[in-house]
Amino acid sequence: MFETLKKATLDKIFVLMAEYAADPRDGKIDLGVGVYKDPKGVTPVLNSVRKAEQRILDTAKTKVYKGVVGNKEFSAAVVDLALGGVVDLKRIRCVNGAGGTGALSILMNVLSRARPGGRIFISDPSWPNHWPMAELVGLKPVYYPYFDHQTRLVDFDAMMKVVDGLTPDDTILLHGCCHNPTGANLTPAQWDIVAASLQRTGAFPLVDLAYLGFGDGLEADAYGVRKIVSSVPESMVAFSASKNFGLYRERAGVAIAIAKDSDSADVVSSQMQNVIRATISQTPDHGAEIVRIILEDMDLRAEWEAELKEMRERMQRLRVKLAEAIRQRSNSKDFDFIAEHSGMFSLLGLKPEVVEKLKLEDAVYMINDSRINVAGIPEDRVGELADKMLAAIG
Ligand code: PMP
Repeated sequence: MFETLKKATLDKIFVLMAEYAADPRDGKIDLGVGVYKDPKGVTPVLNSVRKAEQRILDTAKTKVYKGVVGNKEFSAAVVDLALGGVVDLKRIRCVNGAGGTGALSILMNVLSRARPGGRIFISDPSWPNHWPMAELVGLKPVYYPYFDHQTRLVDFDAMMKVVDGLTPDDTILLHGCCHNPTGANLTPAQWDIVAASLQRTGAFPLVDLAYLGFGDGLEADAYGVRKIVSSVPESMVAFSASKNFGLYRERAGVAIAIAKDSDSADVVSSQMQNVIRATISQTPDHGAEIVRIILEDMDLRAEWEAELKEMRERMQRLRVKLAEAIRQRSNSKDFDFIAEHSGMFSLLGLKPEVVEKLKLEDAVYMINDSRINVAGIPEDRVGELADKMLAAIG
């Protein structure tokens, strides 16, 4: 039977991770995989997370199922964190997802039940799994322009030409703060324009939100998602705690649906629960419980916010350092955009052969579209990295 299957293409990120792991060279640099790294190159367990985990160890009496909607207190704390009370809670329903991607998958399944075969507009570029996730549930993915390859910033005019032409039957998948793999983000004024456009066209927004706190801070980063959900009658948000709590493998996420009223919200909730029951039956709780404990405890929350600030400021510092090192060496402002981007990623705009050369000759690994994870830049080797990049560009 298996002979009927064709070998599936693996996500290029996983292929690159395997290549990096197998590379025996000393001093290899991993700018590929999208996880935060500290100055030692380690993705740490946050102290706030360790303390919350200890509390679970000390006090948990059971590992029995939580129920299909998952950890309700975790969901409520996340809704408060991300949406900050801009929408009446009576209109909001949540279920836990297995990470942000798991939450997104639940939401897309419900979407496809509401509008089978409906179009979902995805930014170009986006994460490599957005498109196949939409196809898997029978939605029809379509690209909308997002990135200006000359300026390496958002091509907002091109984006809005498509967004303004959406219909009430269309869905648009928006990236919350720092979520776009290019590193280029919408400004608050641009979020206002997108929200006004959605109000006008009636298109349905789904926001993928995995980097809250990685840009300018928790409140500032929430501007876009709050603007969207408070401007339209119906929306969805997929929240991930993988990056900002460093909980990657614990798979903590929340699928948030915002309906026009409480009755409609109950229907959406029943659909989300039905999807969970028909797929994984119950969602993981360990990461969810850690986040709940942290967000509900004033001291732990303050400690987490300080740790998040440290991660954010380190990435901002690395951006400025790399942009400056390249400017000094090349006497050009061509890479200044690295410091203007925010979050963990920047799309450098290097040719595929340059990316390949950096990997083969210098053991510098980045995704083949030249996306880098700035947290992977070794702080004491920024000059060396700039030299290598400029030499490879030629
Ligand atoms: N959305 C998308 C499209 C992702 O690929 C990811 C993983 N990088 C996330 C959200 C958030 O991460 P996670 O699923 O690990 O919570």
